[in-house]
Amino acid sequence: MANAHRDMPKNDRAGRPRRVIILGSTGSIGRQTIEVINALNAAHGRGEWGRPFEIVGLAAGTNAGALFGQAAALGVRSVSLVANPDAISAPSGIGTLTGPDAAERLVRTVDADLVVAAIVGFAGLDATFAAIELGIDIALANKETLVAAGELAIGAARRTGVSILPIDSEHSGIWQCLAGSAAPPMSLGETIRRVTITASGGPFRLWSGDAIRRATPEQALEHPTWSMGPKVTIDCASLTNKALELIEAHWLFGLGPDRLRAVIHPQSVVHALVEYTDGSTIAQLGAPDMRTPIQCALTHPHRAPGIGDPTPVNAMQSMEFDEPDLDRFPALGVADRVMKSGGVSGAVFNAANEAAVEAFLNHEIPFGRITELSIGALDAIIGSAGAGAPMRGLSDAREADSQGRRFVGSELRSIDGGLTIPGKKAGVRGR
Ligand code: NDP
Repeated sequence: MANAHRDMPKNDRAGRPRRVIILGSTGSIGRQTIEVINALNAAHGRGEWGRPFEIVGLAAGTNAGALFGQAAALGVRSVSLVANPDAISAPSGIGTLTGPDAAERLVRTVDADLVVAAIVGFAGLDATFAAIELGIDIALANKETLVAAGELAIGAARRTGVSILPIDSEHSGIWQCLAGSAAPPMSLGETIRRVTITASGGPFRLWSGDAIRRATPEQALEHPTWSMGPKVTIDCASLTNKALELIEAHWLFGLGPDRLRAVIHPQSVVHALVEYTDGSTIAQLGAPDMRTPIQCALTHPHRAPGIGDPTPVNAMQSMEFDEPDLDRFPALGVADRVMKSGGVSGAVFNAANEAAVEAFLNHEIPFGRITELSIGALDAIIGSAGAGAPMRGLSDAREADSQGRRFVGSELRSIDGGLTIPGKKAGVRGR
């Protein structure tokens, strides 16, 4: 208790709560963020945490029922939806913005001190950028924004003095391994030799390349250690998620590909390791429970009593760290290529992957095609050895995103309606 009191922040807005907008509130990260905020507010009530939070805005895609339920339970008066197909009407007293740009308008019209960016995919870009432009700190889960437009986001954050507080467990881990309490964006100096992030290896870690190529959505959605939304779960199975995270780390911490790597660590207890040039390595450990990194971002630069599972110390008796197999998981190799190419290459890669994952989840392509299509998009649009066209503004990111999606669309049409899926007609064979 003494420590909790010592670490309590002062109320820097004359005792008023910290106002938070949660983008993607109905998703896995959004729901866990609400859980963490409720717990921190309860800790505040018990005198164990200094500054309470007030959720002032919630954004979702189409799940109106869940969104309005959250708003009613939390007393939130401003929400946004892309569309409301269920025609569920908002409870009285709740203002609802709708349309493809509704989340961005929510950020622009509701006063907030922190925006939790947890919309999945490129769809989260505009609202996240709006917050950065307005000078509002971001707690970032939406890695796709940094992959697609990291150069612009980091430039804008530096201009407006915005902190980008990582929620992704590996980036939270890196951040926690660094001495001092500054928040990204930052450029790690030469005293850091290398940063390693870990990957569980996903459900196909021990599968043969052939079996992986034929895997079904049901198999790919069974993640061994983490429970997440469908898109990031599929990305984990192909190790595309780890490629996206290496690119995210590149932007958050100012590291080139020569100082960044990923290793396979099936226990998901060590999330990141930072090696210093003096020979010391600092690792961050924690249970595979996103509530802990979410809370680190929310309470920065302080610590508070948490509801995340404690670190499973017993699992440390058998911790494995293996080199990834790029033959079976070629997506991971794309990270280096994108970091070296720069420009719009991240936006192309991200868009092609998003479109391919959607096609896979719709049973239109086999699992192996996802990575073939994202690499194919880079080959076709950026060129195999080329540098990405420069990223001068968000319109370049949007154009590159459209190009990546168009490439996948035309490939899907050219493969006879997806009949290249082995066993699609006869049923996919097992492992
Ligand atoms: P989910 O699929 O569980 O949730 C996505 C959220 O985004 C939902 O609230 C959804 O609303 C909303 N959404 C989707 N499209 C739009 C749109 N166009 N406009 C506004 N809202 C939209 O995803 P996760 O929570 O798993 O992931 C969110 C982000 O966090 C991703 O970038 C992911 O990579 C990252 N992340 C996730 C982790 C996890 O453990 N889940 C771990 C680390 C990072 P609706 O419910 O209405 O569809």
